This record gives sequence, structure tokens and C-alpha cells, in this order.
Amino acid sequence: MFPFRSGQNKHRAGVRAVGLGLVALLCGCGTAAFLHLSPRSFDARLKLLLGGGGNAAVLLHGRSEALVVDTKFGDFGRRLRHQVEQDLARKVRRIVLTHAHFDHAGGLKLFPDAAVVMVHPNARKRLEAEGIRAPFVEVEGEVRLLLDGDEVRVLAMGSGHTDGDLVALLPGRKLLIAGDLVNERFEPYCDPKYGGDILALSNTLPNLMTLDFEQLVPGHGEVMPRAQVQSLADYVAALQAQVRQGRAEGLTENQVVAKVKLPEYRLERFLAMSSREGNVRAMFQALGREGMRAR
Ligand SMILES: [Zn+2]
Repeated sequence: MFPFRSGQNKHRAGVRAVGLGLVALLCGCGTAAFLHLSPRSFDARLKLLLGGGGNAAVLLHGRSEALVVDTKFGDFGRRLRHQVEQDLARKVRRIVLTHAHFDHAGGLKLFPDAAVVMVHPNARKRLEAEGIRAPFVEVEGEVRLLLDGDEVRVLAMGSGHTDGDLVALLPGRKLLIAGDLVNERFEPYCDPKYGGDILALSNTLPNLMTLDFEQLVPGHGEVMPRAQVQSLADYVAALQAQVRQGRAEGLTENQVVAKVKLPEYRLERFLAMSSREGNVRAMFQALGREGMRAR
């Protein structure tokens, strides 16, 4: 997730970094998860770099290669490159971008040797509109890779956070890398500037639950057990159902906001970008658009 548009321009990137720092200082919530960089060794061949922008994963294969899921941005992207190239002595040959937001895709230019960058077509359009060029391979359904016996399934399971979301499933580890479709502890954030839609997310999360995983790497925050992801899917489903019910009863948006609280689902605001009230309003408006299309 990221509140500013992505871009290559160094000055704009600097402005964004300062802006992000200000946002973080002003609101506090989620700041530690966003800014604190935390390396983890999932196992001998899979390394996670949590925080410092979007979470990233590094899968080692062959003698000297690595696949990276999400590239962070700015200095965090350089830290990722340093870890892969210096600490692990690997070259990044394949990249998966879970979506086009700057904090996940901004570091792409730091990996010019990557031969393949897998991306959703809508994310590619947004990145190319920003002047970003790379050996993009569009994934609309599924791409399966076999890297020294390690299967990687890159999947378009639906949109929600943006209109160009991908996930990566590592079946051998029963691990799903989900980008910002899922954020640990935080209220979901659907970015309307990038085609995000809470109603779409309410359909996509159950799709994710059809996949065989036991743990999930979210876009921000700690690795989550499946039950926690199920709870998030349950929350968004309940949100949709209750807002839909409010609409059916003829309530106004403000009346629905006053009624739909769902206190059993305890989620924090993420920076200044997501809140319970904001998601109730977004769902109310999305269901209104759905109703207009149905006529
Ligand atoms: Zn994002």
C-alpha cells in the first residue's frame, strides 16, 4: 500500500519519502510495521525481508540466482539488493510484483539484470505510464515455475487492494505471499486511485482461501497463520453482508456507518490510509455502483 503515486523521478521519489515520513510521524499506527526492516530466514532457500516498505521474499535457486517477490523502494530497495547480492551472493533473475504501488515496486529499477518481471496487466499499465520499462511478463491467470524442484505458482486470484493484484504460492512450504490483499493486524486498504475496491476484495479473499496454504506473508506486518487470514476474510464478508443489509433497509450511508461496527474483528488503522468507517463507506458506495450496473 502507498498513499502516493509511483514514479521513477528521483526528486519525486524524495518528496514521497519525506511525505511518507510525515504521514508516519503524524499518525503512528502501522509505522513500525512499515518502516522497521526485519530479515527472516524462513528456511535455507527462502528469506523474508519484512518491513521497510512492502514485505519482500527471496527464493534462492541454482548456484547463483534468486527470485524476488516485491522490490521495496528507495534505500529499503537498496538494502534488499545488498542482502541478495552481497550477503547471499545471488543475482536476481526473476521478479514477481504483487502490485504497482511504489513501496512494493519502486525498487524494480535496482535490478536491471532481471530477465523476467511477472506482473498483472493492469499493474504493468500503471508502471509503464510512469515511464518504468522492464522485461514484463503479464500474468492474468497462472504461471508455474519449477526452480530446482521448488514450485512457484504466480496467480491472479482477483483484485481488491488495486486492480492489478498477484499472489505467489509456494506449495512445498504451504506458504502464500499475498501482497497488500492481506495486511496483518490492519484494516484492509483498497486504493481507489489504483482501481482498488473493497467489494472486489470481499470476493478475492475467499478465492485465496481456496489455495492450500498454512502460512501467509502479508504486504505489511508479520507472517500470519491461515486462521488469521480466514478471520480477515470473514470480517470483509461480514462487512459486505451488513452494509448490503443496511442498503436493503433503505438506510443512508451515514446511518450504515452508525450501525455497522463489527467490534469482534479488532483491526488497526494502517497509517492514515485505512479505517473501519472508511471501509464501511467504501463498501456502501461500491454496492451502489453494483446496483447501478445491475439495472
Ligand atoms: Zn499497496
